[in-house]
Amino acid sequence: MAGTPLITELRAALGADAVLTDPDLLRMHRRDEADLCAAGTPAVVVRPRTTEEVVAVVRAAAGHGVPVVPQGARTGLAGAANAVDGAVVLSMVAMDEIREIDPVSRIAVVQPGVVNAALARAVAEQGLYYPPDPGSWESSTIGGNVSTNAGGMCCVKYGVTTEYVLGLEVVLASGEVLRTGRRTAKGVAGYDLTRLFVGSEGTLGVITEVTVGLRPAPEQSLTLVAVFDSTASAGDAVARIAAQGLTPSLLELLDRTHLSAIEAYRPMGLRTDAEALLLAAVDTGDRAPGDLALIGEVCTAAGADEVYAATDAVEAAALLQARRLAHPAMEHFAARTYPQGNGGLVIDDVAVPRAALAALLDGVARIAVECDVPIGVVGHAGDGNMHPNIVVDRADPVSVARGRRAFDEIMRLGLALGGTCTGEHGVGLLKRDWLAEEIGPVGVRVHQAIKSALDPAGLLNPGKVL
Ligand SMILES: Cc1cc2nc3c(=O)[nH]c(=O)nc-3n(C[C@H](O)[C@H](O)[C@H](O)COP(=O)(O)OP(=O)(O)OC[C@H]3O[C@@H](n4cnc5c(N)ncnc54)[C@H](O)[C@@H]3O)c2cc1C
Repeated sequence: MAGTPLITELRAALGADAVLTDPDLLRMHRRDEADLCAAGTPAVVVRPRTTEEVVAVVRAAAGHGVPVVPQGARTGLAGAANAVDGAVVLSMVAMDEIREIDPVSRIAVVQPGVVNAALARAVAEQGLYYPPDPGSWESSTIGGNVSTNAGGMCCVKYGVTTEYVLGLEVVLASGEVLRTGRRTAKGVAGYDLTRLFVGSEGTLGVITEVTVGLRPAPEQSLTLVAVFDSTASAGDAVARIAAQGLTPSLLELLDRTHLSAIEAYRPMGLRTDAEALLLAAVDTGDRAPGDLALIGEVCTAAGADEVYAATDAVEAAALLQARRLAHPAMEHFAARTYPQGNGGLVIDDVAVPRAALAALLDGVARIAVECDVPIGVVGHAGDGNMHPNIVVDRADPVSVARGRRAFDEIMRLGLALGGTCTGEHGVGLLKRDWLAEEIGPVGVRVHQAIKSALDPAGLLNPGKVL
């Protein structure tokens, strides 16, 4: 492909340094972090720096009938950024400028390749707060966060990415540039096209600029740990905390598998004899000590056998760090369970109404036994959003089949409990069938109508979502 007319056109438009065909690099850009999802090899990876260059890429690819797969940092967990054979991968990482931070309007305007943590730190310097904080915040991009509608730990109080996206600049499949939304505090003109593109996983357009809303910096938070002898009691505690009208700024659950995996990966003194640990924080200013005490009482009433508050900010940060280690620790656990690089981790993502959390946790434990696969559960318990991590031996088709069965059973259970097949990771390749199951034939038809209206040739991130 090195000398094809399309590559020549791309080099003319972007310059040779932004048009990459090195085979190692093409391989690197095949996939995101999702295990067991199909991926193809792109023909070329391009790294535009401006909206005009994105327009040139989309127009050139369309002229040759070649698919375009947008990518951010490829930390996605649903295969949504996976390439298809022969595609142009549109890597947005070089568009990483924070263009404006306006403390009066409380907005920031950024290019999509800005890393989440870079934005959070930049606005914090001005006493402001960009709340969405996916576990991948040190590497994932705002464009990727918007395209997956990412959540995170503080979303239990502050809401997910979509709450903060005020406006977008989007390059459509036609090469036209669409501006959606606003930079005003209020605004209701026309259909809410901004929300249409949030969570669209690169299938409706390429996001080239994002206007986000900011909050004043939150008060210092106080943190508490509650230890339970069953995951269902921890789930019950979450429902009781919500029923009391409390508003924790963080309410996370780690099960025994995760506690053991973290201790084996980086010993932190966590209790590995516990079935579940709830990590809660409150940032309600003067009310915080009282709110934290109340959360502790509710946890004890729900069956916690130990409740303790972090003594200072250093201990609170260490507890948060333990939660952040869940993903690498489970990868380490999978690698130890099935050595020689065969340990795979299917990271599921299911959200149920908070009142059904205990039933979900009980059900996942039953599914692990029935399917005979190790499953650890971690997640944003306060949102009813859990990540059952299914450990499989990639080299053993029986183990992989068991893992897939467990995955399907968890999806079925989540929907039966009134939940959704994905709380934050998105549909990508992993959940297409389950999306169709969740939204039904009319929902599928409306999705398809929107897709074909915006991308009639089906060249933008084909095969994803539907
Ligand atoms: C350790 C770890 C922890 C994680 N924790 C969380 C978590 O707490 N919450 C959560 O929600 N997710 C989490 N994730 C998943 C992942 O980080 C998020 O989905 C994130 O939003 C992906 O961002 P990215 O820049 O890596 O995008 P990518 O993975 O590269 O892409 C994701 C999707 O966005 C599309 N896309 C990217 N940029 C653009 C653009 N500019 N225009 C149009 N489409 C675009 C891609 O085509 C793809 O469909 C975690 C992942 C890891 C590895």
